[in-house]
Amino acid sequence: MDKSGQLFIVATPIGNLNDITYRAIETLKAVDTIAAEDTRHTGRLLSHYGITTRTTAFHDHNEKDKANLLISWLKAGRDIALVSDAGTPLISDPGYAIVNACRAEGIRVIPIPGACAVIAAISCSGLATDNFTFMGFIPVKQKAKQDFLQQVTALTGTAICYESPRRIVDSVEAVIEVLGEDTQVVLAKEITKTFETFYSGSATELLVWLKEDLVHQKGEMVLMISTKKEKTTDLPEPAIALLKQLKVELPLKKAAAIVAVHYELKKNDLYKFGLTLD
Ligand code: SAM
Repeated sequence: MDKSGQLFIVATPIGNLNDITYRAIETLKAVDTIAAEDTRHTGRLLSHYGITTRTTAFHDHNEKDKANLLISWLKAGRDIALVSDAGTPLISDPGYAIVNACRAEGIRVIPIPGACAVIAAISCSGLATDNFTFMGFIPVKQKAKQDFLQQVTALTGTAICYESPRRIVDSVEAVIEVLGEDTQVVLAKEITKTFETFYSGSATELLVWLKEDLVHQKGEMVLMISTKKEKTTDLPEPAIALLKQLKVELPLKKAAAIVAVHYELKKNDLYKFGLTLD
């Protein structure tokens, strides 16, 4: 029996055309067919890199039927690269049906990693990166949006969401309503493009910033929500500052004990507060 072809999942740039790997270019040149979310859009990338491989459309509306056709081509020994309009295919983009089918059929699926808005956004956000949850697009309808944000209350770490410029104000208002006005957020816009912007602050500050200039609402964006709640406390500011400093070098118990003596406070209060810090 002839050997099956391989399916390559190829990441493409999310803005800056240079954000593509050598391996991605080599792969796009070498495969028999490139399955693209939008063949015209991908055509611009391909001509930029002098890639002449033929393309075929593979998008949300034909994904299931097209997956069957592509599987038959793979079984016939053809290598296929899957690309989306931007970033990593399948990450809020088409491709699930074919990858799932390939796995079921024993056809090899090979990642060609590269740009992805989630990873680019979280890596520069200043929010917790040791634990994060990618939640996809925030739902449009009000009730679904509220339920979605309710789920964030049960998370730890950072929640990462894709959002459209048309809905960002609504969504930040919902964040304030469901999660509270002091919720720490970062909005990453136009990553790798000319007007790349990272705005950090409380949800209320972000809302003010978005409304003060309509340009602030424009562009592609990733909204990141910190689930960390810094407990409100009656402890004096200088004691908190010292605790934070000592905690970097010492076990929390020891740091709390030193600050307690220094400021005549209860060791246990400082210890408990320390637990709410990073
Ligand atoms: N597969 C893509 C990836 O790997 O990031 C995501 C595709 S999804 C259909 C498109 C969404 O990703 C946009 O609406 C936006 O939320 C986010 N996005 C894509 N490119 C971006 C960029 N350059 N800056 C900020 N967000 C971006």
